[in-house]
Amino acid sequence: MLWHGSPGPSTNGWSEPQLGEQMAAHGAALFMMAWFFALGASFGSFVNVVAWRVPHGVTLLGSSRCPHCRVQIAKRDNVPILGWIKLRGRCRRCHLPISSRYLWVELALGLIYMVLGLQLFFRAGANVPGGPFFPVSPGLGWINFRLEPELVRLFLDHAFLFSVLLTLALMCWDRLQPPRSFALPCLLTVVFLPWIWTDLHPVKWDDWQSVGTLPMASPWWNRFLTGGVGLVAGTLWGALLGANWNQPNAWPDTRPLVQESSYALGLCGAALGWQAMLAIATLAATGRLAAVAIERRQLAARRPTPAGFFLASAFVLVCGWKWFDQIAAPIPSWTACSLLITATLFCTAASSWVLMRHRKPTPCPDGSVSK
Ligand SMILES: [Zn+2]
Repeated sequence: MLWHGSPGPSTNGWSEPQLGEQMAAHGAALFMMAWFFALGASFGSFVNVVAWRVPHGVTLLGSSRCPHCRVQIAKRDNVPILGWIKLRGRCRRCHLPISSRYLWVELALGLIYMVLGLQLFFRAGANVPGGPFFPVSPGLGWINFRLEPELVRLFLDHAFLFSVLLTLALMCWDRLQPPRSFALPCLLTVVFLPWIWTDLHPVKWDDWQSVGTLPMASPWWNRFLTGGVGLVAGTLWGALLGANWNQPNAWPDTRPLVQESSYALGLCGAALGWQAMLAIATLAATGRLAAVAIERRQLAARRPTPAGFFLASAFVLVCGWKWFDQIAAPIPSWTACSLLITATLFCTAASSWVLMRHRKPTPCPDGSVSK
């Protein structure tokens, strides 16, 4: 569906839109942006529920309750973002505070969905390698709303990835181990989705550098390999990062952190390919180094959330995916590949080394001190 800018008699192939037409297009575009934001905020509300209930083994059915007085939250108070603001973060019955995390998670996912929608439907996927996938009208600036099935599929795939990453980050923030019954179906969905929707991977597993073409339907084994290679590479690299990610005294046991980290990076690899996964690992490790440098003193008080860093890094990568892809284009493929792997290894090692230096002795139950 193209709202405006159908091919006309002008030399560049597009007719110049009238002022009224432009106003209507802007209004409709703003409405669509608000719609994507509301969709993300609603899923953010669901993410809040999943992140708490699933690790505790509580059913996802049934309405939300106040964490203090356990009274059921009324439908009118359960509207994402607005409900929390209207009640000023307090329960209507017991007036005890309700965490602002609910608000921030809904806002964050609302913004993520809005930016994804903007790039895919308004810029025809200009952020994705090989994009934009459809001609955009120069007369309308950023308004080129197209609701094509290819773009809808990419949107759903990316929106699912970010929603699951956010859920994993929240679970780890609460020091809850993500259960396998949650992580495995999510990983399998991302690996097997390209079997049904054949054009989800703009960068295939054997693309060593820039592709510059439309994501095309490839043979079934190629689709499986792109997701599979990304999943295995991401899982292994995630475990490596997670094992060294622990902060002084934050987790008594490192295993849940390794698991969360490998689930999150495995998910990124399966959805976006191993090349994007390496870039995400590099960005996340660099972000971690920066966080250590900034918060040197309060480090012990912070909670390690690798999935949070992977979420932020994956978002940066997806927003500038085409740009990241083009950096590698002029470099010979094997050089580009080795440079990327070296950069990822270096950042992983550097962040691990810096964290190791900050690790403090943990007191044991019997009063002795262990390192
Ligand atoms: Zn209450």
